[in-house]
Amino acid sequence: MAAKNPYELRDPREQYPKPPFPEQPQPAPGLAARMVPEPDHGEDSYRGSGRLEGRRALITGGDSGIGRAVAIAYAREGADVAINYLPDEEQDAQQVIKLIEDAGRKAVAIPGDLKDEAFCRQLVERTVQELGGLDILVSNAGKQVFRESVDEITSEQFDQTFKTNVYALFWITQAAIPHLPAGASIITTSSINAHQPSPTLLDYATTKAAIAAYTEALAGQLAEKGIRVNSVAPGPFWTVLQPSGGQSQEKVRTFGQDTPLGRPGQPAEIAPIYVLLASQEGSYMTGGVYPVTGGKVF
Ligand code: NAD
Ligand code: MG
Repeated sequence: MAAKNPYELRDPREQYPKPPFPEQPQPAPGLAARMVPEPDHGEDSYRGSGRLEGRRALITGGDSGIGRAVAIAYAREGADVAINYLPDEEQDAQQVIKLIEDAGRKAVAIPGDLKDEAFCRQLVERTVQELGGLDILVSNAGKQVFRESVDEITSEQFDQTFKTNVYALFWITQAAIPHLPAGASIITTSSINAHQPSPTLLDYATTKAAIAAYTEALAGQLAEKGIRVNSVAPGPFWTVLQPSGGQSQEKVRTFGQDTPLGRPGQPAEIAPIYVLLASQEGSYMTGGVYPVTGGKVF
């Protein structure tokens, strides 16, 4: 699907598949391997140039979608990478582990549920142990369940969405900060939904606004330690989050159509900003929320 040469001049509207897409329900969290068309995570195209040589990174949700694209990019830029994911996602995760190792880097697989505070703290400790330290933390795991009406959101769903998207970010950053050296980078994953909330994603959109505020406040705190904190706010990206209950199948069919570029983004198209924010080239970038939306303005 992807061009082998990522630097070739091309029309971005024509670069990747456009709607309509086939309906493709999967139970959450879903597997990227079962998507039609399969997402492009940069497997055949991402070229590293030593921008993260010797860094040690932890990426939550690193098995699929945006997290997988970031894992591939980081490994090819020279970083050792630990990924976290849910046990049901082992098949996707093993593909990522192989891609990191193929790049000549150390890969660590740490499955487990981020809704559990004790696990979040262990995840950081295990990463530090296995990689010998931590320089880059990418908080990317997320839960998104669409509901037409506020009446249909159970307290259980509300709680799980907040635990996964907000509490886990708090637990993991709190555990990680004592390990992070000056020059380290924390990158969170917000959403266009923080600014332009979809009515059918009430609880999810609220967590994404919380993530943006948390990121900005934490950046203000950690500047005095020389640690930068930023957030990426994706628009519609072609990942398994959407067909596995994140949107109705009707919305999956037309996913990305309402953007100026007329199609959803592919995970490979967002990984480069996670590289920039993690690398020393981003040394003056902190406290920012960076949109990657195919032209949707917020
Ligand atoms: P994805 O489904 O590929 O990735 C999400 C990952 O979250 C899963 O792979 C899973 O490993 C992890 N996860 C969920 N619940 C978990 C739990 N309890 N414990 C541990 N891990 C858990 O989808 P994606 O689109 O790549 O999502 C990555 C991030 O991007 C999410 O934060 C999502 O909200 C955000 N985002 C996505 C889009 C989009 O259109 N795809 C738009 C805006 C923001
Ligand atoms: Mg996954």
